[in-house]
Amino acid sequence: MASQVATGPASSSMASSWTGLRRTESGYTQRAVASSTSFPSSSPARLPITSRHETRMLAVSVEKKFVTKKSEEVFTAAKELMPGGVNSPVRAFKSVGGQPIVFDRVKGCRAWDIDGNEYVDYVGTWGPAIIGHADDEVNAALVEALKKGTSFGAPCVLENELAEMVIEAVPSIEMVRFVNSGTEACMGMLRLVRAFTGREKIIKFEGCYHGHADSFLVKAGSGVATLGLPDSPGVPKAATSATLTASYNDLDGVKELFAKNKGEIAAVVLEPVVGNSGFIVPTKEFLEGIREITKADGALLVFDEVMTGFRLAYGGAQEYFGITPDLTTLGKIIGGGLPVGAYGGRKEIMQMVAPAGPMYQAGTLSGNPLAMTAGIMTLKRLQQQGTYEYLDNITGKLIAGLLEVGREAGHKLCGGHIRGMFGFFFTEGPVNNFGDAKKSDTEKFAKFHRGMLEKGVYFAPSQYEAGFTGLAHTEDDINFTISAAKEVFQSI
Ligand SMILES: *Cc1c(COP(=O)(O)O)cnc(C)c1O
Repeated sequence: MASQVATGPASSSMASSWTGLRRTESGYTQRAVASSTSFPSSSPARLPITSRHETRMLAVSVEKKFVTKKSEEVFTAAKELMPGGVNSPVRAFKSVGGQPIVFDRVKGCRAWDIDGNEYVDYVGTWGPAIIGHADDEVNAALVEALKKGTSFGAPCVLENELAEMVIEAVPSIEMVRFVNSGTEACMGMLRLVRAFTGREKIIKFEGCYHGHADSFLVKAGSGVATLGLPDSPGVPKAATSATLTASYNDLDGVKELFAKNKGEIAAVVLEPVVGNSGFIVPTKEFLEGIREITKADGALLVFDEVMTGFRLAYGGAQEYFGITPDLTTLGKIIGGGLPVGAYGGRKEIMQMVAPAGPMYQAGTLSGNPLAMTAGIMTLKRLQQQGTYEYLDNITGKLIAGLLEVGREAGHKLCGGHIRGMFGFFFTEGPVNNFGDAKKSDTEKFAKFHRGMLEKGVYFAPSQYEAGFTGLAHTEDDINFTISAAKEVFQSI
């Protein structure tokens, strides 16, 4: 230990932070030294400590304190300015308690808050950061695109380029429409399934989240599940009366709904791996079953791949499972951190969308050159050899390690991963649907979350959200996380 304290910060440009000290306790300093070149050299200047000499002195004194004073000040002010202090509910840390961390900047798999604390980040801005935050090549391409303007409101070549990439990647997509968010993609998709089939009813699953459009706010996941909210006020009954719900992985439930509503169901919409009520995997029979039922009934099957697209495989969950839906929604990763969503499918369906067809949907900023550039650059990186094997390997190690040290400390835990997506619950499991997920001890999760935060690991501030790894996470990051978790599991 002592020798690490002496050698670590001295040769590193990034270890000079409070968290560097915390890491030292976990034997993490060596990793920090090994990869110090990948961090911006400007980082120490923003930290409360300005001189490397001082840092060394502090390191020897083994300062432990986790200070979030600035975050608290900013968030307190934010609560008077924006509802709950945030622009998206789960960010407010309500279900894990304590104040949220106010971010200053991100790079690679790291995030830094405004108090100078450094975190290994497993949220990755809720999925988009799959190649690492603020990637140098993506940033350079964005700077070039910026010189030509931020928005055209007219066709641009970059739209063709990203559309071609998406169509080539995703098995179900022959034609695509870009929008600005996952919510918007799901809204467009909903109108389209109704326009194409001439039917109104849809089936969705308890705990699945498809953005915040009225019709989807029935037994929804994500923030709705996190905050334990009933279906939202402000949603007219008429908007949800055509939304039928079933339990995830319950094929019989779906069959029953089809039997009762024969010829009336426009589409079955689902997350092909659930990430919005924690991480829940479909059974083979379930996915194959709903593919068959929808086909037989003339309903459309929609995979909402806003989260899983380009994450489980380059072609998304549909490539991973070998099951092709009729329509697909995308978001998150295809914008590479800028606001992009998309919906796409067979040409005969997509030709319904205006101006090719009568179904109206539009967007002032849709397909804007900056967002297209970030998407193109991100997908190009994901095309490289071995990408998904790498994600699978490190994420597998992470989840196996977390479950092992957690169970050793006497906790009931279950969890899993596919490629760069993972999750765990404080319950023995198995977790096959939202009902099972709710058995998790969320108070324990809250304590775990806080403990990890204090050790420099940023997990999603909710039991009901999946975790994400990216190409910037290294085995050392994983090992650091597991050893931090070991201590936290023992303390809760
Ligand atoms: C995140 C998400 C959405 C909503 O996307 P936004 O960009 O937040 O509007 C929709 N569906 C799924 C599966 C998601 O994970």
